[in-house]
Amino acid sequence: MGKQPKNANLNENGSTPNRDRPVDLKDLSIEELSAIATWFRQKPFMAGYIFNFIHTHGMTDIDQISPLPKRFRQRLAETGCFISQLKLVQSFTDPDGTVKFLFETVDGCRIESVLLSDQDGRRTLCISTQAGCRMGCAFCATGKLKFQRNLSAAEIVDQFYLAERYNKAELHGGRIGNVVYMGMGEPFDNYDAVMRSIRLLHDPAGRNLGQRHITVSTCGIPEGIVQFAGDGGQVRLAISLHAPTNEIRQRIMVVARTWTIDEVLSAVREYQRITGRRVTFEYCLIQKLNDSDGCAHQLIGLIRNIDAAVNLIEYNPHPGCAFQASDARRIERFQSLLLKGGIETVVRYKRGQTICAACGQLGADRLSKRDPKTQSPENKT
Ligand code: SF4
Repeated sequence: MGKQPKNANLNENGSTPNRDRPVDLKDLSIEELSAIATWFRQKPFMAGYIFNFIHTHGMTDIDQISPLPKRFRQRLAETGCFISQLKLVQSFTDPDGTVKFLFETVDGCRIESVLLSDQDGRRTLCISTQAGCRMGCAFCATGKLKFQRNLSAAEIVDQFYLAERYNKAELHGGRIGNVVYMGMGEPFDNYDAVMRSIRLLHDPAGRNLGQRHITVSTCGIPEGIVQFAGDGGQVRLAISLHAPTNEIRQRIMVVARTWTIDEVLSAVREYQRITGRRVTFEYCLIQKLNDSDGCAHQLIGLIRNIDAAVNLIEYNPHPGCAFQASDARRIERFQSLLLKGGIETVVRYKRGQTICAACGQLGADRLSKRDPKTQSPENKT
């Protein structure tokens, strides 16, 4: 993967914690932790203990990292180093097995993650990268929330660690096999923290999650797509297209007013020239907007020469939204046209709908007076 950007809370030399800007040790790579250890006149290998205790054992108290000399632990704490942890406020379980987590950051931002299981019991976690989102997609509940702030890499990976712990303790499951950056927020609008979080999850000294088990989904920011080609390694890329024409796309995605479909697809071609990797286009089917036969043919024409698969997503309305989902026959018809046109296409049916955990619904409970946990007797806290 590409070079890691510097942590903003370390001083110029990248090794000195700054009392005025406390350093979250969970945010740092082993190299950065080594530089800190050296600055405190400790052996660089101490960094391995810190990283392992945080990212494998889930420690949140510097004093618990017992292999470190006591004086070193004290000095870390005195200079403002700490280990952050999200608070799990509530979990909601849908009858289909989907679990939504409501987390809170130390400064009170609320974010959500969703744990999905497939028919074979494999689990995938959908995580958030921002509290709120600036992109304002019309079909998405998150887009209607006020943007609060970017999440740090530590806050992004913590969703995974806490969900995995829940999966083991409450669902008697094992490790979570896949993570998708498709929750609240636009990953490329928080690029550095997202890339840092991927490195943390992938690091063999920590959770060691394979890059191919990670997918980053963007609403289509050309600069981010091209940058990701250099930085993303084997991590998968998905692009939310959702429409075959600029006119339709602009009706549902504010970002389409800045970048045309041509610009997005040029970036995708450049990404493929650099990486040789296949991409996925996400296409949310909305009744009488983008689900006609004509739209299917236009979509085929657009992406025919790109090495890509299409995920057709059954639309999930949220309180106050103006759109309706396409009916089952229309979805089938749209898929069959794409398949006939030579485009590999999969339909993603709604999951976790009763708990507002489906695609485009995160944050939906905050748009409604209804408390999602009352929507199903299955829900638990
Ligand atoms: Fe943001 Fe994604 Fe929702 Fe668009 S769909 S508003 S990019 S979270």
